[in-house]
Amino acid sequence: MSLDRFGRNINYLRISLTDKCNLRCVYCMPEDMVFRPKAELMQDDEIRRLVNIFGTKLGFRKVRLTGGEPTIRTNVTELVRDIAATPGIETVAMTTNGLLLDKLAKPMKEAGLQRVNISIDTLDPEKFHKITRWGKVEDVYSGIRASEDAGLEIKLNCVVVRNFNDTDDVIEMAKLTRDNDWQVRYIEMMPFGDVADFQQAGTVSEAELRERISAELGELLLINDGQLDGEARLFKLPHSLGTLGFISSVTSPFCASCNRARLTADGRLRLCLLREKEVDLLAPMRAGATDDDLIGIIEEGIWHKPWGHGLADNVIPLNRVMSEIGG
Ligand code: SAM
Repeated sequence: MSLDRFGRNINYLRISLTDKCNLRCVYCMPEDMVFRPKAELMQDDEIRRLVNIFGTKLGFRKVRLTGGEPTIRTNVTELVRDIAATPGIETVAMTTNGLLLDKLAKPMKEAGLQRVNISIDTLDPEKFHKITRWGKVEDVYSGIRASEDAGLEIKLNCVVVRNFNDTDDVIEMAKLTRDNDWQVRYIEMMPFGDVADFQQAGTVSEAELRERISAELGELLLINDGQLDGEARLFKLPHSLGTLGFISSVTSPFCASCNRARLTADGRLRLCLLREKEVDLLAPMRAGATDDDLIGIIEEGIWHKPWGHGLADNVIPLNRVMSEIGG
């Protein structure tokens, strides 16, 4: 078990498989983003070695693969297979834009992937193209269908941006849960790096969204007794198959129950999404650190995991944008 100094049990690792992406969502990275050379990123064996340490020695039970865009890593299916087979690891999930799931959903499911969180902020093709800077919403939709055919559990991530997709779009997304056993999750936009001003001006609160959706589609029924499902508070529309989740990191932070650590594509252990603190694992690994050395470094980092973010005090992480961390 890996405890931090506040007594939180940290057992969920989010691994960024690459900093590169096949989209350029406006709230995620600048259009002219410069990516790291491959040699500076974790190689397959380095990822396997770290996952083995987290699973067998540090009590981690869940891994989420993210990016950049995880599906553009050439051998993503083999990595899924190896990670899912790691002793101790019980759940392997992925956050993806879905563009390549048409081909990858089935092999990744067979390799041990259990769930995909697919990012789709609007069903409107023009708006989708605009917010992703060049994506086609039909491609995401075929990825969703392929994931369903493959038997993957499906959650849809929708980042809500004021005056862009905060009205009709959120309603259309919610309607998807009527006939599909999916979870549509509305994510409050968070500020990072040099796009922070835009992000802060555009954040739409959970309270505002819930009011809008229930005015349009009927009273939202609280499920799970209000207990968080991961980071989401869950509701249901009347007579729907799926659920609606609200991830309100900005207006209603869930830091007290945070059980996550993140591994960036360049091998830094990031202890809080919204704090700059990171611990380098790649340099010691490449300098010959033993597993015990690495365990010591990781345990020390986790012990000092920040309590929570400082958005209320206007403390914004500037050292990376979201695409470099992975969400
Ligand atoms: N490329 C993958 C994808 O699109 O899902 C994985 C990486 S992406 C950084 C992970 C998630 O973070 C996506 O759901 C994305 O919409 C979300 N995200 C990106 N920037 C964000 C921001 N500033 N605030 C909140 N969520 C953000």
